Amino acid sequence: MDVPFLELKRQYNELKPLLDEAVISVVKEQFFVKGKRVESFESHFSSIKTVRHCIGVGNGTDALFITLKALGIGNGDEVLIPAHGWLSAAEMVKLTGAVPVFVDVCEDSFCINSDLIQAHINSKTKAIIPIHLYGQMADMTKLSQIAKAADLHLIEDCAQAHFASQHGKASGSTGIAGTFSFYPSKLLGAFGDAGAIITNAPQLDTQCRAFANHGELTKNEHCFTGMNSRLDALQAAVLDVKLKRVKSWIARRNEVANYYEHHLKEIDSVQTPIILDGNTHDFHLYVIRCKRRDELQKFLLSRGIRTAIHYPHATPYTKAFMANDYQPEDFPVSYVLQGEVLSLPMFPELREEELAHLVESIRAFYSK
Ligand SMILES: *Cc1c(COP(=O)(O)O)cnc(C)c1O
Repeated sequence: MDVPFLELKRQYNELKPLLDEAVISVVKEQFFVKGKRVESFESHFSSIKTVRHCIGVGNGTDALFITLKALGIGNGDEVLIPAHGWLSAAEMVKLTGAVPVFVDVCEDSFCINSDLIQAHINSKTKAIIPIHLYGQMADMTKLSQIAKAADLHLIEDCAQAHFASQHGKASGSTGIAGTFSFYPSKLLGAFGDAGAIITNAPQLDTQCRAFANHGELTKNEHCFTGMNSRLDALQAAVLDVKLKRVKSWIARRNEVANYYEHHLKEIDSVQTPIILDGNTHDFHLYVIRCKRRDELQKFLLSRGIRTAIHYPHATPYTKAFMANDYQPEDFPVSYVLQGEVLSLPMFPELREEELAHLVESIRAFYSK
């Protein structure tokens, strides 16, 4: 039996009439960039996220870049970033001219380890970008305390935890801003690239909006050098349809996670995800830590099961950041995770027989 890692067609087939209708409407309207479709999505998204402002942008990487630029971060500044996670934040900090300073992650949540942050703060430090990885939030209570004491901006990378919460607070609503990606495979995915920034700060909303639109603060007034990174109407219309379903999708993802947990927790060589106290988990990805990872992945593939690795290289150990000559002992947890993390298929439309085949195969592998 073939088990896909992710099969977006199943979601599309379920919502086909609504999605087709949304796309055709935009095509008929012939109004493609910004406009009422985008405003509608921005207002629905900010309300579900319990924040005042949402700015639709081109993608999740741009969302980070725009936020950093709007906060005035650049040459001579340093920004703290977890070593393990997707590399967009580190890339964008570098592109502003600032220096990404990596911090190792926690053994349990795989998110930035707040106990290690203080040692990295100096007079150049301007911000911390926690990445809410795989679907749950980093420890925002501690991070907020540190950020407040040292007068740092907290920018939450929510691209993997769109609807996660911590002690009832929505992801992206604690820091000065939250950034989102609607890349097709994300929890809330568009029909192409798309992203957003949320914030409660009116000033930052204005700056981000203008920066993403050629520095245009008011019509025809280009007040500073910006860029073009806008959400388009087709993506907004698709996202608006899907937004109504996300609650039930996340509930189903949690059911799948419970199934995995129930059937895998007894296996000594497998560590199932640990959910931090006070956190709800989106399960954008279901990532286990396991022994003989590469062998297991091959074995599963031989049984038709596709898995993935997020990520084979922690950011400091990628070629892009290799010039700094980071050593394994600089980020010991991130270093070990590179060889142990495995993402199992996780999407709401996974079938019972696929799940059964999967857990049976993992058990078979470790009882060999
Ligand atoms: C996907 C992702 C991004 C980048 O989003 P794009 O829309 O692909 O640019 C940024 N951060 C994290 C943690 C991500 O998973």
